[in-house]
Amino acid sequence: MPLHVWSSAKYSFPLPNGHRFPIAKYARLRERVIAEGIVPTNAVHDPVRVSLDDLLLVHTADYVDRFTSGALTNDEERRLGFPWSEALVERAYRAAGGTIEAVRAALDEGVAMNLAGGTHHAFPSHGEGFCVFNDVAIAIRALQRDRLIDRAAVIDLDVHQGNGTNAVFADDDRVFTFSMHGGRNYPFRKVAGSLDIELGDRAGDDLYLALLADTLPRVIDAARPDLVVYLAGADPHEHDRLGRLALTFDGLARRDSMVLEQCREVGIPVAVTIAGGYGDPIDDTVQVHVTTASIAARYSRS
Ligand SMILES: [Zn+2]
Repeated sequence: MPLHVWSSAKYSFPLPNGHRFPIAKYARLRERVIAEGIVPTNAVHDPVRVSLDDLLLVHTADYVDRFTSGALTNDEERRLGFPWSEALVERAYRAAGGTIEAVRAALDEGVAMNLAGGTHHAFPSHGEGFCVFNDVAIAIRALQRDRLIDRAAVIDLDVHQGNGTNAVFADDDRVFTFSMHGGRNYPFRKVAGSLDIELGDRAGDDLYLALLADTLPRVIDAARPDLVVYLAGADPHEHDRLGRLALTFDGLARRDSMVLEQCREVGIPVAVTIAGGYGDPIDDTVQVHVTTASIAARYSRS
């Protein structure tokens, strides 16, 4: 059984020269997972746009309307971190659509992956930190509405805290939000999740993996999830420009294996999203995401 992944040429959109968001990574990741035989081309799916009904499970109609029509204020645009464009709208809708399709596939196949998504800084009524829509929250809410799942766990190992996701699920005891992140990283005002672990600067593989090994079983026990959504951020890598941690490529690969292994042991499906990564060169970030896909592929085949 191949790993099914979602990716679109429309995940990319034009940005001004010198913008620090690594938009090139989406196309390169797609090319590499195909070129390296990790995913056969017929298992790479182009997502449809997220529907308005699904968006409104998480976001306010006012925010969705104003973002879609290009009516955000200058302050809102600055907080989001992107200049508005039609192409940005298309990307936001497609990327959320990709996560929705991936979570549905994960329920059927055990593991599936969106080669984007994990935009965890998006709140119901605003976007920030390069995150327009909270794809993970929308996807979980859509499955709950369709009675495909009752409970879910978000395992957020991006180096930044998923403040938007935590805000969405703050009063929902059916969704357990676990985040392990750099304490001194953005967002500077954290929103408490079900379980947050803050790491100091330059934390490396040994500390990180020991904490994760100790914590994951407790997360699964407490969450009793029907589905895990995993945010496999590349930004804990030692050469990330924003991350402040010091994980190696090998450490990140062991992290991914640990999450997938833990879920397989208890028979819980996992949908993977790539979340952040700001490597210099950006190929470092792409390498981390490619490795995540290859590990996910191993779990989907076994
Ligand atoms: Zn991040």
